[in-house]
Amino acid sequence: MVKSISINVLILCGLVFSCGNGYGQKTVSITIDDVPNTRIYSANNCHSKLLSVLDSLHIPVAIFINEGLLKKYEADCDNQALLTQWISHKHVTAGNHTCNHSRYSEVGLDAFTFDIIQGAQRSNTIADSLGKELRHFRFPYNDLGADSLAHVQIDSVLTSLGYRISPFTIESSDWMFNAVYEYYLQFNDTIKAAEIGRMYVDITLQYFHFYDSLSQQVYQRPVKHIYLCHDNRLNSDYMPMLVDKLKAESYAFISYDDALTDPIYLQQANYFKKWGISWFYRWMDDPSMRRAWMEAEPETVEIEQLFEALDK
Ligand SMILES: [Zn+2]
Repeated sequence: MVKSISINVLILCGLVFSCGNGYGQKTVSITIDDVPNTRIYSANNCHSKLLSVLDSLHIPVAIFINEGLLKKYEADCDNQALLTQWISHKHVTAGNHTCNHSRYSEVGLDAFTFDIIQGAQRSNTIADSLGKELRHFRFPYNDLGADSLAHVQIDSVLTSLGYRISPFTIESSDWMFNAVYEYYLQFNDTIKAAEIGRMYVDITLQYFHFYDSLSQQVYQRPVKHIYLCHDNRLNSDYMPMLVDKLKAESYAFISYDDALTDPIYLQQANYFKKWGISWFYRWMDDPSMRRAWMEAEPETVEIEQLFEALDK
């Protein structure tokens, strides 16, 4: 009996959680949405600082492209060349993030399907010429639909188009920090901007610690994390600090495809609302457990208040 239980546990470990070799190390795949940021490309003399920074850091990243951004500021720079630089980079895995960043639960199935198809027209041509392929799709706002029917319908569309839905385990609202960061830079308040930059790095590390503790409690091991952030000025300036601090905490930076080999990503979702929550929560089948973990997330009230004050 004891032998049969221990074998069953070993099989469970091997098939479901793959504990043991390969899962003791803390790992993360960095993923960047809303590429390419043609606004800061234009403002920066047709140069993407984030791409240069990532090149110098020698870490693999996955990017999720909004082709609609190519039509903005196109008189200033060659935006197609920027997209080609991103897709052709040896450390980049490219994915689709729609053309116009529409919200699926608002526009409905047909319009959203059209936005997906439009989202990869130029990217597919560039990727083809480089022997690459766009196989991954990330939803704008991580809005997978308002109910279970909508989730199932779009899943079927994406499968028929050859895409896999792109999950994430960690995000830290970098877009909100970026809005406040750019606000201070606009008024040349570099001291306040730097405070926001450091706060972003500190809170992001707190999110890593938080989701590591969740991972340990739920899966009894470190999972292969996927971190979601954006092509923005904040990451152009603070990604090196964030990467340094994660390295100091023994995180290894892995490719997106490597991250997806973690069997956690084979789990079924149990969450069918439109909100863009971490996949850790989507996999939980107990709503009260989900709520309890969400309420225990790191404190972000300071940046939220600063962000809300921008509108006033
Ligand atoms: Zn986006």
